[in-house]
Amino acid sequence: MPRDPRHDVLFEPLRIGPKLMRNRFYQAPHCVGFGAERPGAEAYLRAMKAEGGWAVVNTEAALVSPEDDYGGFTTQTRVSDDRQIANLELYVERAHEHGALAGIQLLAMGRDATGMSTREPGGGATRAVSDSLWWAAAYEMDRDDIRELEDLYVAAALRARRAGADIVNIAGAEGAGLPLQFLMARHNRRTDEYGGSFGNRARLWLEVLERVREAVGDECAVTTRLCVDTLHGTAEGIRAEEEGAAFIELADHLVDFWDLQVGGETLDRWVRDAGTSRFYPEDFQGRWVRAVRSCTDKPIVGVGRFTNPDTMAELVRTRKLDMIGAARPSIADPFLPKKIDEGRLGDIRECIGCNVCISRVNAGAHIICTQNPTLGEEYRRGWHPERFSTARNAEASVLVVGGGPAGMECAITLGKRGMAGVHLVEADAELGGHFHWVPRLPGLAEWGRVVDWRKNQLAALDNVSVVTGTRLNVADVLDYGADIIVCATGSHWATDGLNGPSQSPVPGADAALPWILTPEQIMVDDKPVPGERVVVYDCESYFVGVSLAERLARSGHQVTLITPMPGPAMYLGLTGEAIEMMPLLAELGVEIVPAHLITEVGDRVLYGRPRHDPGASPAVWETDALVLTTQRIADNGLYRALKADRGALRAAEISGLYQAGDGRAPRQQVADAIFDAHRLAREIDTADPRRPLPYVPEERLLGMTAKDYDAIVDPSRDDVGRSTVLERP
Ligand code: SF4
Repeated sequence: MPRDPRHDVLFEPLRIGPKLMRNRFYQAPHCVGFGAERPGAEAYLRAMKAEGGWAVVNTEAALVSPEDDYGGFTTQTRVSDDRQIANLELYVERAHEHGALAGIQLLAMGRDATGMSTREPGGGATRAVSDSLWWAAAYEMDRDDIRELEDLYVAAALRARRAGADIVNIAGAEGAGLPLQFLMARHNRRTDEYGGSFGNRARLWLEVLERVREAVGDECAVTTRLCVDTLHGTAEGIRAEEEGAAFIELADHLVDFWDLQVGGETLDRWVRDAGTSRFYPEDFQGRWVRAVRSCTDKPIVGVGRFTNPDTMAELVRTRKLDMIGAARPSIADPFLPKKIDEGRLGDIRECIGCNVCISRVNAGAHIICTQNPTLGEEYRRGWHPERFSTARNAEASVLVVGGGPAGMECAITLGKRGMAGVHLVEADAELGGHFHWVPRLPGLAEWGRVVDWRKNQLAALDNVSVVTGTRLNVADVLDYGADIIVCATGSHWATDGLNGPSQSPVPGADAALPWILTPEQIMVDDKPVPGERVVVYDCESYFVGVSLAERLARSGHQVTLITPMPGPAMYLGLTGEAIEMMPLLAELGVEIVPAHLITEVGDRVLYGRPRHDPGASPAVWETDALVLTTQRIADNGLYRALKADRGALRAAEISGLYQAGDGRAPRQQVADAIFDAHRLAREIDTADPRRPLPYVPEERLLGMTAKDYDAIVDPSRDDVGRSTVLERP
């Protein structure tokens, strides 16, 4: 399909200093949790975006000082010693192979260095306890410290240049960045030439830019990632029209383009940079970035969870932005630019704005994606989001039972692997499983993209048939005539209050009673929620309990949320939603009772106690209704019954019986169910598809050479053409 001419403007080349961008798509720097420890994974993840058409790819913030660390959160890229150059070279080479420019973002963490790994405190503009890492305390840098730090920036920039990087980006935003800390009056109480007036506070940043620019010469474009508005709304922070504009005017001659974002100057304010769809629409940063447009003629890149090509084209056409910056949209679909270029808009796997990607990095693990199960698997498993090898058993037919996100993903992947015939059979009238109703929870409409994208893909596959409104039993499955059966039958919420914290049901809890309800009963069955007072008993601690609490409060109920956890919806702290959700619940009058178990349910009365104090006097709550978001139960009866009768399977000539998704283990995030199903389909032709094939671990194993690592993986299973990248001169 040809490109829509309205989107042509997105494919006009753009000069940024000494470099030429092939189009206007810029993968903004973002963490992935691989960094210096897993250079293959880091390089191949970025390379996939380069292959997908992004004109610029970037590392995450790369640490310039050997004494900085993000220990406790994530693994960063390092550019703090010469040994790192080989890792950076691999990243740059792979980006260049696919025609992208490679940027390296240089970061000095200042007072936000955790010191958990290095045991060193950070150096700050002012001696201070961090406002987001309250256990860390920084010393005040003196002039010698400042000079040494500038030397570290220069050395790091030269390493980036030696590695072949095209762009050197000085970080002054999202979560850390010493230059921004010096610039902000809030963090800089100095009285010397680096403090006091705005010009003095800007001095460090300007000196770093000047020295880095001089060091890299014409071989690299130079930019800086500026938090153009920290959203404090006072002169203590950065306001776009005031301090943001003033800094751009001061530093404009030192950069080739501006990389702008808002709201992320500390580690707990990044959530306003990476806003979730629950609270922030597409282009949510635009109004602040546009406020400084007139301050510079240099190209500007901005972010805003852009997935709509019409929005992007309009922003570039009107020069509100010159480049479309994206982290999450490039994670959900590394091939977003190519798909726009080829007019394949229906194929774009749009980001749903859930921030599960970030949550895993915040948890100290590596990045994943709800929409894109191949994310992070490019190197270690050799997966490609758009390429699928033909299965060795492609002549087989497959019946996938269950059309939720896992079943849909499994059928799509099997279809793309060329299986002779794939039948996806769903009991309900609609595909989607529990994601049929989740997007109707407040603020979660964009989550509907999980099902929408998969429906589109299924419709385009000639070898996949979809049947809805048909519940299959054991006899039906045996009679179906398929060679391989995949049970993706999902899960349901416990009706008896079974929960992890107490490892048992709650005595007296029974959702067959008219005043006790499960999420499905509310969202699918329209079971009425009686009376005024409602208690939500939330042991899931992610989005379902608080979303139902919000929904019920908005419809006029007086809601109490009781949870055994230290606070409500603890996982939202990792996705960044908590910072907005907690005030919202307070505003809606939702009462929170943390760290309490409900131990017994009477007739419209609940008995409980503090979770960690079994001897405490019982707490009592009278209520008109009780909602149980305690845990989900796997619907695996069909699988178990089929597996129990091996003779019947043999008689029906069924060669493989597998489970995938929540029916196997109902984990908290749909991303895991989708991954599970994708993994099974990718490996449906191995000796034992139930067990994942080994992947390249990259973590150092004593006695192993680089070749040994790669030898773990069967090279014939390599869809992406992964080479032995670790065996480098
Ligand atoms: Fe978007 Fe969610 Fe994927 Fe992150 S995990 S890129 S927010 S869909």
